[in-house]
Amino acid sequence: MEFQYGRFGGQFVPPQVAAALQELEQAFNDAKNDPTFIEEYLYYLKQYVGRPSPLYFAQQLTKKLGGAKIYLKREDLNHTGAHKINNTIGQILLAKRMGKTKIIAETGAGQHGVATATAAAMFNMECEIFQGQIDMERQRLNVFRMEMLGAKVTGVTQGTKTLADAVDYAINEWIKRIDDTFYLLGSAVGPHPYPTIVRFFQKIIGEEAKKQIIDQEGRLPDVIMACVGGGSNAIGLFADFIDDKDVKIIGVEAAGMGLETKDHAATLTLGKESIIHGMNTKAVVEEDGSISPVYSISAGLDYPGVGPEHAFLQDIKRAEYVAVTDKEAVDAFLELSQVEGIIPAIESSHAVAYAMKLAPKMSKDHVLIINLSGRGDKDVEAIERYLQ
Ligand SMILES: *Cc1c(COP(=O)(O)O)cnc(C)c1O
Repeated sequence: MEFQYGRFGGQFVPPQVAAALQELEQAFNDAKNDPTFIEEYLYYLKQYVGRPSPLYFAQQLTKKLGGAKIYLKREDLNHTGAHKINNTIGQILLAKRMGKTKIIAETGAGQHGVATATAAAMFNMECEIFQGQIDMERQRLNVFRMEMLGAKVTGVTQGTKTLADAVDYAINEWIKRIDDTFYLLGSAVGPHPYPTIVRFFQKIIGEEAKKQIIDQEGRLPDVIMACVGGGSNAIGLFADFIDDKDVKIIGVEAAGMGLETKDHAATLTLGKESIIHGMNTKAVVEEDGSISPVYSISAGLDYPGVGPEHAFLQDIKRAEYVAVTDKEAVDAFLELSQVEGIIPAIESSHAVAYAMKLAPKMSKDHVLIINLSGRGDKDVEAIERYLQ
């Protein structure tokens, strides 16, 4: 088997899925080299998503922390409030190009489901979202949102009834409907070529940030950081900086209730090399090698695996991965809200929390970029509950 990222990646799937993935890879390779396809993708990112997103100098936070200059890449200002729409627009255009008329996708908390249903509505595609039954109950508002956008939401009742099982379910459904159906995967995970495709549609984040920081500071940043669930917003920021060896790259995972407990989602920090969802990567596993239930206050970071490129970047020491707890993330959520008037997604707050630890130790002429992957309106209730 071929591995795309050192010994990570690959394609651990049944033969019918492998055939569909080959069709997908061919279409993707063809599309990414077609200037009219890229032009159309960039058109929708500009006119529909609202790109480029600003790179905002967080002057107040910088002053308060007293160290490195902190910039925020404002993915929270995108249509639908997060980076996920970059990927769903790209993949739906690919689906259209392949002549598919139906979209299926998995979702955990519902954010990828909403971004998928949004793009499907705009491109007039039939859309079905698979979501664990427990997640559906926890995220009723997002279920309703997807339905309002015209999607059908189907509950998954097998296994843990959460995201990990919704992925397996979606892949199995795909096998049955491959002729007219496109499986739109939500993060830089899964069997090849999905991690490569998602990276391609998210790398716009880092490409913009690089131009913007050179514009505003006249040089590259010293540190860039992003939160890591499956790893799509992180690889989106990192991709264009990987060859810039002087730029330090940091991914921030969820330590949940603490790394010493079982209630965390710190895949790269504590996980083991494993096969999950069709790829070889790192995953949080039990003694017997089965996938562990994971936990984070942040639904978007609550995933037991991680994109294979992150496992590789950690392995070759090009990127460093750290973890912050629920409490640290909530503190950062409140701090950014109060100091800058920006309410960050609780996922993004993990990156902000680590920046708050690191920036004071850096000199004042150093520059740090945080990917603000999404906005926090969706999290206000959960934060209120947490604080009580
Ligand atoms: C889904 C989500 C994440 C986590 O997903 P990645 O693929 O790791 O980026 C992070 N932030 C926000 C706002 C999200 O919605």
